[in-house]
Amino acid sequence: MNIDDIVVCPKCSGALKKNADKYHCTKCEAKYKTIEGIPVLIDYDKIPKHLIQQIEYFSNESKDLGADYKIEPWQKSYVDSFVANTNIKKKKSALIIDCGTGTGYIAIELAKLGYNVLATDLTLDYLIRLNHNAKVLGLNDKIMTLCCNAQSLPIKDRAADYFVSNAVLEHLPEDVKAAKELTRVVTDDGQIMVTVPHKLKYISPLLWLVNIIHDKRIGHLRRYDFETLSELFNNFDPITTIYKGHTAKVFLVLLNMIFKNIDKEKIEHIDEKNNNKKIGANNITMFFKKKSF
Ligand SMILES: [Zn+2]
Repeated sequence: MNIDDIVVCPKCSGALKKNADKYHCTKCEAKYKTIEGIPVLIDYDKIPKHLIQQIEYFSNESKDLGADYKIEPWQKSYVDSFVANTNIKKKKSALIIDCGTGTGYIAIELAKLGYNVLATDLTLDYLIRLNHNAKVLGLNDKIMTLCCNAQSLPIKDRAADYFVSNAVLEHLPEDVKAAKELTRVVTDDGQIMVTVPHKLKYISPLLWLVNIIHDKRIGHLRRYDFETLSELFNNFDPITTIYKGHTAKVFLVLLNMIFKNIDKEKIEHIDEKNNNKKIGANNITMFFKKKSF
């Protein structure tokens, strides 16, 4: 598994040639660098202002994480959902793109299961941290890292069998463009997992204000539901839809901030029972497979 076999120029989709630690495009002559071994394939002329602000925000956030890898029960539940709701178990040698990997838990947990993962993020600091953790855990032959913009993926057509987009689309000024890019890089029998914040109309009004403040602070531009996500991925057929983060869970998490005596795994089990309930859910996760024409 070599990242140089998958990447293309983010400006013109031309083939890239690597020389020492730099890439150059054989078509438009653009040059790109690698930082700590990570290809930084970003067209900085076209990157929206909002995303520049997001890089700044998440670079700071990544510094607060500490170097060591840890996973919370709610994060584990997303990895378990991916394995349970796709046909990945039948495809041991598949390539999974974990777009907007952030703290990297999806990439690491899937690599632990033996899968090959290409983890991408716009925030380089997350990828440096992920590479460090992958090395510590002995998973660096399973995880590749790529710094890029999800709205123009510098990745060859049909390069990946699976695509995970976890808490990404709501941050992007042009989610339609990102959905098209996602569709392009997935194989014809590919499957995808998309998680986004759920529209406020499904959530208890008691939680609207805290959600609106959170959305603004973290840079969320919109929320979604089954209909808007299905429309965004109209080249795919929905497989399953899961709803997470119900009102009861949110209150238990808030209570736990004060009392710190409720088992986090128990909270996840309570939330899992509501996986098929649209009303009250703060997040929606949809699994799709590509439509066969
Ligand atoms: Zn080019």
